[in-house]
Amino acid sequence: MITIKTPQEVELMRKANIIVRDTLNLIQDKIKAGMTTKELDKIAYDYITKCNAVPSFLGYSGFPASICTSINEQVVHGIPSDKVIIKEGDIVSVDCGSIYKGYNGDAARTFMIGKVDEKVQQLVKVTEQSFFEGVKILKEGVRLGDLGHAIQSYAESFGYGVVRALVGHGIGRDMHEDPEVPNYGREGHGLRLRKNMTIAIEPMINMGTHEVYMLDDGWTIVTEDNLPSAHYENTVVITEDGVEILSL
Ligand code: MG
Ligand code: MG
Repeated sequence: MITIKTPQEVELMRKANIIVRDTLNLIQDKIKAGMTTKELDKIAYDYITKCNAVPSFLGYSGFPASICTSINEQVVHGIPSDKVIIKEGDIVSVDCGSIYKGYNGDAARTFMIGKVDEKVQQLVKVTEQSFFEGVKILKEGVRLGDLGHAIQSYAESFGYGVVRALVGHGIGRDMHEDPEVPNYGREGHGLRLRKNMTIAIEPMINMGTHEVYMLDDGWTIVTEDNLPSAHYENTVVITEDGVEILSL
């Protein structure tokens, strides 16, 4: 079911998303080579709970941590571990969610550790920009196919693969609500967005093929060709003349 939020609900989502944004900013300040992804998870758990919010990922379908940490060829849903040490030259996608007074925030960033290969730097920048290429055209009445097309055509113009197997989503009382928000699509097709709908837009862009598969841990999604992948996500609310990005 697609829900249209009241101004009061949007205000609670603003708070939940600011907590997520600040958690990611804190991780950006601290992340460096030699740390484990488990240490990043503790930073997130401690900060979110200090804000009187709930880390929404923890226990979600049994997920064992407060953030997802996905390194290099890992696309999303990597599990933080004290055995995974971040290295110089890695890219680390961190996805984070919080629930504040019953409402969800959800955002992700891909961090570059030290000196990263120039081609990989470009992948990270294009992934982030593809989100903004989508946001540029958004406003009340725009169709989901137009949003997906804007993201896809930008990313594919660099020869990258746009992940199809996972998509963005509506968000509110639940982290994952209708509608699905694909990062690919056909212009003029799909649902029309309405004012005060809240959606999480999250391009997952691969340097090579768009094909992905799941590791035996039952969570981590990796690229089929083992080439790197980047992820960038924000929660937005649709307005009459554009969007408000709640997690930025
Ligand atoms: Mg997310
Ligand atoms: Mg999401």
